[in-house]
Amino acid sequence: MPDTQQIRTGIIGLGAMGIGMTQSLAAKGFAVAAFDLSDAAMTRAANAGATPVPDAADVFATADIIVLSLPAAHHVEAVIADAVSAGHLANGAAPRIVIDTSTSEAEISRKLAAALGGNGHGFVDAPVSGGPSGAAAGTLAMMLGGDDAHVSRAMPVLEALGQKIIHVGPSGAGNVAKLVNNMLVASHMITTLEAIRLAEASGVSAEDALRVVNAATGRSAISEIHFPNWVLPRSYDSGFSTGLMRKDVRLAREMAAQAGCSMPLADLVAELWSEDRSGLSDSDDFMLMGDPQADRFEGDKE
Ligand code: NAD
Repeated sequence: MPDTQQIRTGIIGLGAMGIGMTQSLAAKGFAVAAFDLSDAAMTRAANAGATPVPDAADVFATADIIVLSLPAAHHVEAVIADAVSAGHLANGAAPRIVIDTSTSEAEISRKLAAALGGNGHGFVDAPVSGGPSGAAAGTLAMMLGGDDAHVSRAMPVLEALGQKIIHVGPSGAGNVAKLVNNMLVASHMITTLEAIRLAEASGVSAEDALRVVNAATGRSAISEIHFPNWVLPRSYDSGFSTGLMRKDVRLAREMAAQAGCSMPLADLVAELWSEDRSGLSDSDDFMLMGDPQADRFEGDKE
C-alpha cells in the first residue's frame, strides 16, 4: 500500500465526476486541495473531506499530483496556463504530475505533455469510464496516455480512483481510446432503443427483450447497465449529460476525419443525437435518448 499521507493531491473540476473522485481520494487518506468555479461544488468538496482553495493555481501550489475533471480540452488548457503563469510548472519547481481525467483531445494532451515534460513535470491523459457512481466508489475504468515514469509516479492516485487501469500508449493514446469507446456508447444508445421498440411493437416487453439480449450476443454496457438502471425505471439520472455525449461524438468524428477513416454509421448517429433530431437539450441526461414514450424519430417512419 502506498503511504498516501506522503502524497499531496489536488483536484480541479468538482462536477458529477470530480466530486466522486474527491470522495475516493479523501476516503483513501490523501490530502486533497480542491477548486471549482461553482461555490456549491466547493461546499460539496469540503463535505467530502477536501480542502477548498481560492483558485486553480492554488491547487498546483499545494499538490504534487493534480487531477483534472473538466468539461473540455480548452478548460484544461486554461487551467494549465494559469498554473504556468503562477510559476508552479516552471523549470526547477517541485516536479508535478497532472492526471487529466477529462474527455479531452489527443493533440492537446500531446502538446501539454511536451510543454510540461520540457520543464520536468508530467502530464498523463487519463480519461475515465464508469460514471459518477464509479467515481465515488473508486472503481472507474481508466485509459492512460503518457510516459512510463509519469504513469508510475501517478499510480497510487490512479489506483485510488480506478479499478481497471489500462496504459494504452504514449501521450494522447488515452484520449483516442476514450473517444473510440464513447462513439460506441452513443451508437449503442440508439441501436438498443431501436431494438427495444421493435420488441415491444412485436409483442415482447422491454424487460423480456433485455433479459434475452443480456444473456446473448446483442448485449453492451448500455443494455446491461444503462437501460435497466435509468431507462426502464424512467429515472433518467445517470449523471452524464447529452451535451457531453455530443462533445464525444463530435471529437470522435473529427478524429476520424483527421485519420481519413470513413464512419458512415457515426455520421448518422451524430445527426440523430443533434438537438433538432432528438429534441434533447445539452443539459438533459443522455439516458433520455432511450425514453420509449418520447416517440423520437417517429417522423422517420415511411
Ligand atoms: P460536469 O459538468 O458535471 O462538471 C464539470 C465541472 O467543471 C463543473 O462543476 C464546472 O463548474 C467545473 N469547471 C468548469 N470550468 C472550470 C474551471 N476553469 N476551473 C474549475 N472548475 C471548472 O461534468 P462531469 O460530468 O463531471 O464531466 C467531467 C469530465 O469527465 C468531462 O470531460 C466528461 O466528458 C468526462 N466524463 C463524464 C462522465 C459522466 O458520467 N458524467 C463519465 C466519463 C467521463
